[in-house]
Amino acid sequence: MEYSRSIQMYISQLVEETVREVLGNQSNSGETSGRQKLIVANWKMNMSLQTITSFVEKLTLAHVRSDVVICPSFPYLFPLSELIQKFNCDVELGAQDLHWNESGAYTGEVSAKMLLEADCHYVLIGHSERRDSGETDEMISKKVKQAISSGLKPILCVGESQGQRQIGKTAEVIRKQVLLALEGIEDISSLVIAYEPVWAIGTGLSATPEQAQSVHQLIRKTIDVQYGSISESIPLLYGGSVKPENASGLSAMTDIDGALVGGASLDAESFAAIIRGFERG
Ligand code: PEP
Repeated sequence: MEYSRSIQMYISQLVEETVREVLGNQSNSGETSGRQKLIVANWKMNMSLQTITSFVEKLTLAHVRSDVVICPSFPYLFPLSELIQKFNCDVELGAQDLHWNESGAYTGEVSAKMLLEADCHYVLIGHSERRDSGETDEMISKKVKQAISSGLKPILCVGESQGQRQIGKTAEVIRKQVLLALEGIEDISSLVIAYEPVWAIGTGLSATPEQAQSVHQLIRKTIDVQYGSISESIPLLYGGSVKPENASGLSAMTDIDGALVGGASLDAESFAAIIRGFERG
């Protein structure tokens, strides 16, 4: 089903209003939000049965306090779940994608029910690497709906390209991605949003804490306009070349509630150092 012209116009109008409002009023209040930090590892198509075992062992010994989620490739969900129990490691499991249908002839796809059986509580949706392979805002919206109605917590990824940032379109792109993904969804209490500027993913070029804070503030405001005060409890993660060296600076920002970590999450020691950085910030 295509989005109707009137929804598109309504969204464009809201985008313009909020962009004007937020850009005129950016700030990091320095106040602590009371939101628990959430650090998510996106292993992408990496790791092996051998490396996941030593990873869980080392992460357990690091005794981190934050909420931690690991998103491995699908085949590692079951063995990882067993390792987490064996080592009594305080982390939760997430998947890197799901299909919006419950079952059927969808070769290569994975359903929400299968993920729940594999002990998943979270699922990444709309990662830029998937958007690059043709995932549209409409598909992302259906996935978010399916995750929420099945009891999985969606981690909705949004982010602008370098070109969009250069021509001053960051706020507009982000706001559209958020609103289109949540179109028609009433209950967002389990939602997590990750701001991942595409130009920062896997490039070593992280957004500065101030750049990230200003987009996080815009996202929170966007949610507030649509859903009201629940916006204050939605965890907003930053992703894009997060490493031990920049973790505490990012974490010190009022609207940055954690991180989505790719490359630096493949090594247990660097991942634990990032978690500690966020705990300090
Ligand atoms: C990611 O792909 O979600 C990501 C943030 O990657 P990296 O940390 O490697 O930039």
